[in-house]
Amino acid sequence: MSKSEYILQVENLQTYFPVKRGRKKGFVRAVDGVTFQVRHGETVGLVGESGCGKSTIGRTIMRFNDPTGGRMLFDGEDITSCDMAPYRKRMQMVFQDPYSSLNPRMSIGEIVGEPLDIQFPKMSAKEREERIQEQIRLVGLNSEHLSRFPHEFSGGQRQRISIARAMVIKPEFMVLDEPVSALDVSIQAQIINMLMDLQEQMGLAYLFIAHDLAVVRHISQRVVVMYLGHVMEINESEDLYKRPLHPYTKALLSAIPVPDPNTSRARHREILQGDVPSPINPPKGCVFSTRCRYATEVCRSELPRTEEVTPGHWVACHRYKEIN
Ligand code: SF4
Repeated sequence: MSKSEYILQVENLQTYFPVKRGRKKGFVRAVDGVTFQVRHGETVGLVGESGCGKSTIGRTIMRFNDPTGGRMLFDGEDITSCDMAPYRKRMQMVFQDPYSSLNPRMSIGEIVGEPLDIQFPKMSAKEREERIQEQIRLVGLNSEHLSRFPHEFSGGQRQRISIARAMVIKPEFMVLDEPVSALDVSIQAQIINMLMDLQEQMGLAYLFIAHDLAVVRHISQRVVVMYLGHVMEINESEDLYKRPLHPYTKALLSAIPVPDPNTSRARHREILQGDVPSPINPPKGCVFSTRCRYATEVCRSELPRTEEVTPGHWVACHRYKEIN
């Protein structure tokens, strides 16, 4: 029985890492005041260029990093600073690189069975075996694969094994950190479709992290767009793609290739100039102001507040009304 409407609530989350530059001490402000929610059984896409803090959010939610400030609730319970042991059964993470995330000395059966040994040490050998067999089938592999080792598999198959390992304990929530970015485009769709099927069967929620808005569109009900540790825009997936309001979201969307050359020619492309600034010394005011063609004085001095434009559609921009 769920205790909250949301499986995850992230409130004003901050994750800073200390750095030393000569004698000066400073902080990398990887995540700087991020708020969003994930409902039970929902997929939320978390998108932005590399270095925007999205992977740090995933790792902070899992408490691989401790947050510097803010609050995180899991099914209504505060997990900001508590002992995570009781929650490890309920939340899991899949990483980007299926090559380094699997122990090369362990067989696939040992890899998929390991979380059961840790989380359910009293499980009978029969039940353990049945769970592993069932899970390996659910990810599209078969029982013959269980005695083999990671190097015998392709990238796509290794990611299936990583997903089987994460799902074998039947979590309620998973952080998927760029789970298809290292894979061939033809394999990406297979893995995404498999994740959607597994979600339907198991009823779990995903936070799907990606740098590519095209990847997230297919799988997410809602999308959170991030830039330099801040949320720029949040909206239902379909509406975000049809009606982006934030200049950064517009630029990300216009970079998605369109298969029809006529549509592609007609579409206005917004090329983002320059690189993401350093999170050690972020711009004053709106963090996107150094790359935004609409930036004015107010943008360079005041942090825009995140405004709810229509129910569920949030935008952090001083000028969104004028430019849309
Ligand atoms: Fe651009 Fe200003 Fe809006 Fe930031 S607040 S996105 S700089 S227009």
